[in-house]
Amino acid sequence: MERISPKIGRATFLPFSLPDISEEEIAAVVETLRSNWITTGPKTKQFEREFAAYLGAGSDTALGISSCTAALHVALAALNIGPGDEVITTPITFCSTVSVIEHVGATPILADVIPDTLTLDPAAVRAAITPRTKAIIPVHFAGHPADMGAILRIAREHGLYVIEDAAHALPAAYQGQRVGTIGDFTAFSFYATKNLTTAEGGMLTGSPEHIARARLLSLHGMDRDAWKRYSAEGSWFYEVIAPGFKYNMTDIQAALGLVQLKRLAAMQERRRHIIRQYNEAFAEMGELETPVERLDIEHAWHLYVLRLNLDRLTIDRARFIEELKARNIGTSVHFIPIHLHPYYREKYSWKPEDFPIAYREYQRMLSLPLYPGLSDEDVATVIATVADVVQQFRV
Ligand SMILES: *Cc1c(COP(=O)(O)O)cnc(C)c1O
Repeated sequence: MERISPKIGRATFLPFSLPDISEEEIAAVVETLRSNWITTGPKTKQFEREFAAYLGAGSDTALGISSCTAALHVALAALNIGPGDEVITTPITFCSTVSVIEHVGATPILADVIPDTLTLDPAAVRAAITPRTKAIIPVHFAGHPADMGAILRIAREHGLYVIEDAAHALPAAYQGQRVGTIGDFTAFSFYATKNLTTAEGGMLTGSPEHIARARLLSLHGMDRDAWKRYSAEGSWFYEVIAPGFKYNMTDIQAALGLVQLKRLAAMQERRRHIIRQYNEAFAEMGELETPVERLDIEHAWHLYVLRLNLDRLTIDRARFIEELKARNIGTSVHFIPIHLHPYYREKYSWKPEDFPIAYREYQRMLSLPLYPGLSDEDVATVIATVADVVQQFRV
């Protein structure tokens, strides 16, 4: 391999994330635009079939949807979770995992995370269960599957549903089982930054019965195949069975997604190549802690979350990010814990220390650029620049 001389900093800003869109996706979208069928239709159906097949799941187990947030919302609604019910989830997630619990009128209950994977701690879940608990929403943080064995055991013991937030977890597996085929429902995100993108979009997976109910709710509560009502084989007649949502996926999104799904394995290979370079370089620096990958899982590597050993540095995480930004390297933080956001903090009187692991780890984490479009030179520059900040600010 060609030797790359590591540069410190960049002449131009390196974005934290960029979508990977090839000419093939562009052609597929244009073809769909010319086909005269631009919203939910044949491409969406094909994407659902190919996505289910990709997971090794049977037919009618995937529902194309407008976002992962919509998928989580519909899943809760399909399971009749509502006022008076409690749903347990993690503070280390994007706000929408929790806002959907509020949308259905249920009460979010947070349980702290495991320090290494930053996923739901099964012991904390167990301690949070009350007679009102109806469901658990584990988040496969950064692409590392949550401790599903223990979570499913707890769910079975207490008769709870498991809805997985797999926004980061395509493709991932837990003890040989594909994420998307484990819990009652699994919600994937195809947002612009995710491993597979349709700009906005998502996929909800589950049993054919669960998916049929979710499908109905995702499109106005109209009965089967109402999306066909303007086509030659469709009918004008439909019936509304429930006050549904407007969460359907468009064929423009599905056309994009079909090409992305075909390219996913290659894009993942590139992510793993970048991860290996990061891990190798950062493992040597005592000021840094590299992400954990347990032995019995397949990691989707959506995010590379580096943790700072703050006692070995003279600066905090915010300053570390500023120093990288001053050297033209974009980073982010995943996530500002739910219980620190004003709405939740005030509504539930949560204090930072109520979830001590989430709070402590939040203060020392940052996410580095990780996407297939990063060149080997970009990766070498990120490494050299992180090393430069460490070297300047070590104790
Ligand atoms: C991105 C993300 C979501 C929301 O996905 P959308 O498709 O944008 O609705 C939910 N949960 C987590 C953990 C995410 O990172």
